[in-house]
Amino acid sequence: REDDIPALEVRDLTVRFAGLTALDAVSFTVRPGTVHAVIGPNGAGKSTCFNVLSGVYRATGGSVRLGEHELTAMPPHRIAGLGVARIFQNLALPPRATVADSLMLGRHRLTRTGFVAAGLRLPSAAREERRHRERVREIAAFVGIEHQLHAPAGSLPYGQQKLAELARALCMEPRLLLLDEPVAGMTGEERQRTAAVIAGVRDSLGISIVLVEHDMGVVMRLADAVTVLDFGRRIADGAPAAVQNDPAVVRAYLGE
Ligand code: ADP
Ligand code: MG
Repeated sequence: REDDIPALEVRDLTVRFAGLTALDAVSFTVRPGTVHAVIGPNGAGKSTCFNVLSGVYRATGGSVRLGEHELTAMPPHRIAGLGVARIFQNLALPPRATVADSLMLGRHRLTRTGFVAAGLRLPSAAREERRHRERVREIAAFVGIEHQLHAPAGSLPYGQQKLAELARALCMEPRLLLLDEPVAGMTGEERQRTAAVIAGVRDSLGISIVLVEHDMGVVMRLADAVTVLDFGRRIADGAPAAVQNDPAVVRAYLGE
Protein backbone atom coordinates (compact mmCIF):
# COMPACT_ATOMS: atom_id res chain seq x y z
CA ARG A 1 0.00 0.00 0.00
CA GLU A 2 1.03 3.57 -0.72
CA ASP A 3 0.66 4.41 3.01
CA ASP A 4 3.41 1.95 3.84
CA ILE A 5 6.02 3.95 1.92
CA PRO A 6 7.43 6.55 4.31
CA ALA A 7 7.18 10.20 3.29
CA LEU A 8 10.65 10.64 4.77
CA GLU A 9 13.10 8.12 6.18
CA VAL A 10 15.95 9.44 8.33
CA ARG A 11 18.51 6.75 9.19
CA ASP A 12 21.47 7.10 11.58
CA LEU A 13 21.83 10.75 10.67
CA THR A 14 25.06 12.13 12.09
CA VAL A 15 26.39 15.67 11.87
CA ARG A 16 29.70 16.65 13.44
CA PHE A 17 31.08 20.15 13.70
CA ALA A 18 34.67 20.66 14.89
CA GLY A 19 34.71 18.79 18.18
CA LEU A 20 30.93 18.67 18.56
CA THR A 21 28.42 16.01 17.54
CA ALA A 22 25.23 17.95 16.82
CA LEU A 23 23.35 14.83 15.63
CA ASP A 24 24.38 11.36 16.71
CA ALA A 25 22.91 8.52 14.63
CA VAL A 26 19.36 9.88 14.74
CA SER A 27 16.62 7.87 13.02
CA PHE A 28 12.93 8.54 12.48
CA THR A 29 10.27 7.79 9.91
CA VAL A 30 7.62 10.25 8.73
CA ARG A 31 4.47 8.48 7.56
CA PRO A 32 2.66 10.02 4.57
CA GLY A 33 0.02 12.61 5.40
CA THR A 34 1.06 12.95 9.03
CA VAL A 35 2.57 15.64 11.25
CA HIS A 36 5.83 14.38 12.73
CA ALA A 37 7.15 16.61 15.50
CA VAL A 38 10.85 16.86 16.35
CA ILE A 39 11.25 18.38 19.79
CA GLY A 40 13.95 18.82 22.42
CA PRO A 41 15.66 21.42 24.60
CA ASN A 42 17.82 24.19 23.13
CA GLY A 43 20.93 22.83 21.46
CA ALA A 44 19.36 19.39 20.98
CA GLY A 45 20.02 19.42 17.22
CA LYS A 46 16.60 20.32 15.78
CA SER A 47 17.76 23.13 13.51
CA THR A 48 20.76 21.08 12.43
CA CYS A 49 18.35 18.33 11.44
CA PHE A 50 16.27 20.75 9.34
CA ASN A 51 19.43 22.15 7.77
CA VAL A 52 20.41 18.66 6.63
CA LEU A 53 16.89 17.83 5.41
CA SER A 54 16.85 21.00 3.29
CA GLY A 55 20.43 20.58 2.02
CA VAL A 56 21.97 23.54 3.86
CA TYR A 57 24.29 21.29 5.91
CA ARG A 58 26.01 18.15 4.67
CA ALA A 59 25.60 15.09 6.90
CA THR A 60 28.71 13.42 8.29
CA GLY A 61 26.95 10.06 8.10
CA GLY A 62 23.62 8.34 7.69
CA SER A 63 20.91 8.79 5.10
CA VAL A 64 17.75 10.74 4.37
CA ARG A 65 15.38 9.19 1.86
CA LEU A 66 12.43 10.95 0.23
CA GLY A 67 10.69 8.22 -1.73
CA GLU A 68 13.35 6.85 -4.06
CA HIS A 69 15.61 9.87 -3.63
CA GLU A 70 18.61 10.03 -1.32
CA LEU A 71 18.81 13.63 -0.16
CA THR A 72 22.04 13.75 1.83
CA ALA A 73 24.31 14.72 -1.07
CA MET A 74 21.87 17.10 -2.79
CA PRO A 75 22.12 20.90 -2.87
CA PRO A 76 19.14 22.90 -1.50
CA HIS A 77 17.61 23.78 -4.89
CA ARG A 78 17.40 20.11 -5.93
CA ILE A 79 15.74 19.14 -2.66
CA ALA A 80 13.28 22.01 -3.10
CA GLY A 81 12.73 20.80 -6.67
CA LEU A 82 11.65 17.41 -5.30
CA GLY A 83 8.88 19.15 -3.36
CA VAL A 84 10.40 19.82 0.04
CA ALA A 85 9.39 23.30 1.25
CA ARG A 86 10.73 24.90 4.40
CA ILE A 87 9.38 27.69 6.55
CA PHE A 88 11.96 29.53 8.55
CA GLN A 89 11.60 30.63 12.13
CA ASN A 90 12.09 34.30 11.24
CA LEU A 91 10.01 36.30 8.79
CA ALA A 92 11.36 35.86 5.27
CA LEU A 93 8.87 37.45 2.85
CA PRO A 94 10.09 40.70 1.26
CA PRO A 95 8.15 43.33 3.27
CA ARG A 96 7.40 45.78 0.43
CA ALA A 97 6.21 43.32 -2.22
CA THR A 98 2.51 42.46 -2.19
CA VAL A 99 1.55 39.10 -0.75
CA ALA A 100 0.21 38.10 -4.17
CA ASP A 101 3.55 38.82 -5.89
CA SER A 102 5.49 36.86 -3.26
CA LEU A 103 3.13 33.90 -3.62
CA MET A 104 3.51 34.02 -7.42
CA LEU A 105 7.26 33.65 -6.93
CA GLY A 106 6.47 30.48 -5.01
CA ARG A 107 4.90 29.14 -8.24
CA HIS A 108 8.15 29.63 -10.15
CA ARG A 109 9.22 25.99 -9.81
CA LEU A 110 5.97 24.96 -11.50
CA THR A 111 6.10 27.37 -14.43
CA ARG A 112 6.32 25.52 -17.73
CA THR A 113 6.37 28.20 -20.38
CA GLY A 114 8.95 30.17 -18.42
CA PHE A 115 10.02 33.76 -18.40
CA VAL A 116 11.06 33.91 -22.05
CA ALA A 117 7.52 33.10 -23.19
CA ALA A 118 6.14 35.54 -20.63
CA GLY A 119 8.51 38.23 -21.88
CA LEU A 120 7.36 37.61 -25.45
CA ARG A 121 3.75 37.92 -24.23
CA LEU A 122 2.71 34.64 -25.80
CA PRO A 123 -0.95 33.68 -25.22
CA SER A 124 0.12 30.38 -23.65
CA ALA A 125 2.14 32.32 -21.07
CA ALA A 126 -0.82 34.58 -20.28
CA ARG A 127 -3.06 31.53 -19.79
CA GLU A 128 -0.52 29.91 -17.53
CA GLU A 129 -0.12 33.07 -15.49
CA ARG A 130 -3.91 33.28 -15.02
CA ARG A 131 -3.95 29.68 -13.80
CA HIS A 132 -1.18 30.41 -11.31
CA ARG A 133 -2.95 33.56 -10.05
CA GLU A 134 -6.12 31.53 -9.56
CA ARG A 135 -4.24 28.89 -7.55
CA VAL A 136 -2.52 31.60 -5.48
CA ARG A 137 -5.97 32.97 -4.58
CA GLU A 138 -7.18 29.49 -3.59
CA ILE A 139 -4.17 28.91 -1.36
CA ALA A 140 -4.49 32.37 0.22
CA ALA A 141 -8.14 31.57 0.97
CA PHE A 142 -7.10 28.20 2.42
CA VAL A 143 -4.83 29.86 4.99
CA GLY A 144 -7.29 32.74 5.50
CA ILE A 145 -5.36 35.70 4.08
CA GLU A 146 -7.13 36.23 0.75
CA HIS A 147 -8.24 39.72 1.87
CA GLN A 148 -4.55 40.66 2.24
CA LEU A 149 -3.34 39.56 -1.21
CA HIS A 150 -2.76 43.09 -2.46
CA ALA A 151 -1.22 44.48 0.72
CA PRO A 152 2.57 44.70 1.19
CA ALA A 153 3.55 41.63 3.24
CA GLY A 154 5.27 43.84 5.83
CA SER A 155 2.01 45.67 6.61
CA LEU A 156 0.23 42.50 7.83
CA PRO A 157 -0.11 41.63 11.54
CA TYR A 158 2.67 39.24 12.60
CA GLY A 159 0.46 36.14 12.68
CA GLN A 160 -0.80 36.81 9.16
CA GLN A 161 2.73 37.34 7.87
CA LYS A 162 3.57 33.88 9.16
CA LEU A 163 0.46 32.49 7.47
CA ALA A 164 1.54 34.25 4.26
CA GLU A 165 4.85 32.39 4.48
CA LEU A 166 3.00 29.14 4.92
CA ALA A 167 0.95 30.08 1.85
CA ARG A 168 4.11 30.76 -0.14
CA ALA A 169 5.44 27.31 0.76
CA LEU A 170 2.09 25.76 -0.25
CA CYS A 171 2.32 27.57 -3.59
CA MET A 172 5.24 25.26 -4.38
CA GLU A 173 2.75 22.35 -4.15
CA PRO A 174 5.16 20.56 -1.81
CA ARG A 175 4.94 16.93 -0.80
CA LEU A 176 6.82 17.57 2.43
CA LEU A 177 6.74 20.72 4.58
CA LEU A 178 9.42 21.54 7.13
CA LEU A 179 8.00 23.94 9.72
CA ASP A 180 10.51 25.56 12.07
CA GLU A 181 8.65 26.92 15.12
CA PRO A 182 5.61 28.11 13.14
CA VAL A 183 3.80 29.65 16.14
CA ALA A 184 6.80 31.29 17.85
CA GLY A 185 6.06 34.94 18.68
CA MET A 186 2.31 34.58 18.10
CA THR A 187 -0.55 35.53 20.38
CA GLY A 188 -2.69 32.73 21.79
CA GLU A 189 -5.39 33.38 19.23
CA GLU A 190 -2.90 33.37 16.32
CA ARG A 191 -1.49 30.07 17.61
CA GLN A 192 -4.91 28.44 17.63
CA ARG A 193 -5.63 29.65 14.12
CA THR A 194 -2.25 28.60 12.76
CA ALA A 195 -2.54 25.16 14.34
CA ALA A 196 -5.93 24.75 12.67
CA VAL A 197 -4.45 25.74 9.29
CA ILE A 198 -1.56 23.26 9.71
CA ALA A 199 -4.04 20.51 10.57
CA GLY A 200 -5.89 21.45 7.38
CA VAL A 201 -2.68 21.22 5.33
CA ARG A 202 -2.32 17.65 6.53
CA ASP A 203 -5.97 16.60 6.44
CA SER A 204 -7.27 18.39 3.34
CA LEU A 205 -4.12 18.68 1.22
CA GLY A 206 -2.53 15.43 2.41
CA ILE A 207 0.89 17.03 2.75
CA SER A 208 3.39 15.41 5.15
CA ILE A 209 4.85 17.75 7.74
CA VAL A 210 7.93 17.76 9.95
CA LEU A 211 7.28 20.17 12.81
CA VAL A 212 9.88 21.70 15.12
CA GLU A 213 7.98 23.54 17.83
CA HIS A 214 8.52 24.59 21.44
CA ASP A 215 4.81 25.13 22.20
CA MET A 216 3.88 21.76 23.69
CA GLY A 217 0.17 22.52 23.47
CA VAL A 218 0.51 22.88 19.70
CA VAL A 219 2.74 19.79 19.45
CA MET A 220 0.28 17.66 21.41
CA ARG A 221 -2.65 18.95 19.39
CA LEU A 222 -1.05 18.46 15.97
CA ALA A 223 1.53 15.71 16.08
CA ASP A 224 0.77 12.16 14.98
CA ALA A 225 4.23 11.09 16.14
CA VAL A 226 7.03 12.74 18.08
CA THR A 227 10.81 12.29 18.06
CA VAL A 228 12.62 13.78 21.04
CA LEU A 229 16.26 14.86 20.75
CA ASP A 230 18.63 15.79 23.54
CA PHE A 231 22.30 16.65 22.97
CA GLY A 232 22.06 15.27 19.43
CA ARG A 233 20.67 11.89 20.49
CA ARG A 234 17.21 10.49 20.04
CA ILE A 235 15.90 9.88 23.56
CA ALA A 236 12.28 9.01 22.71
CA ASP A 237 10.08 8.34 19.69
CA GLY A 238 6.41 7.49 19.43
CA ALA A 239 2.87 8.67 20.01
CA PRO A 240 2.60 12.14 21.62
CA ALA A 241 0.93 10.98 24.84
CA ALA A 242 3.50 8.23 25.46
CA VAL A 243 6.45 10.49 24.68
CA GLN A 244 5.14 13.25 26.94
CA ASN A 245 5.20 10.93 29.97
CA ASP A 246 8.51 9.26 29.13
CA PRO A 247 10.85 9.70 32.16
CA ALA A 248 13.86 10.43 29.90
CA VAL A 249 11.92 13.23 28.20
CA VAL A 250 10.76 14.73 31.49
CA ARG A 251 14.38 14.63 32.74
CA ALA A 252 15.71 16.31 29.58
CA TYR A 253 13.24 19.18 29.88
CA LEU A 254 13.69 19.64 33.63
CA GLY A 255 17.44 19.76 33.14
CA GLU A 256 17.13 22.65 30.69
P1 ADP B 1 18.42 23.31 18.38
O1 ADP B 1 17.87 23.84 17.11
O2 ADP B 1 17.79 22.03 18.84
O3 ADP B 1 18.37 24.34 19.48
P2 ADP B 1 20.93 23.26 16.93
O4 ADP B 1 20.73 22.25 15.88
O5 ADP B 1 20.83 24.68 16.54
O6 ADP B 1 19.97 22.95 18.18
O7 ADP B 1 22.35 23.06 17.60
C1 ADP B 1 22.85 21.78 18.03
C2 ADP B 1 24.28 21.92 18.44
O8 ADP B 1 25.09 22.12 17.26
C3 ADP B 1 24.53 23.13 19.33
O9 ADP B 1 25.52 22.76 20.29
C4 ADP B 1 25.04 24.17 18.37
O10 ADP B 1 25.88 25.07 19.02
C5 ADP B 1 25.80 23.33 17.35
N1 ADP B 1 25.83 23.93 16.01
C6 ADP B 1 24.76 24.17 15.22
N2 ADP B 1 25.14 24.69 14.04
C7 ADP B 1 26.50 24.79 14.10
C8 ADP B 1 27.52 25.24 13.17
N3 ADP B 1 27.19 25.70 11.96
N4 ADP B 1 28.81 25.18 13.58
C9 ADP B 1 29.13 24.70 14.81
N5 ADP B 1 28.24 24.25 15.70
C10 ADP B 1 26.94 24.29 15.36
MG1 MG C 1 17.00 25.72 16.69
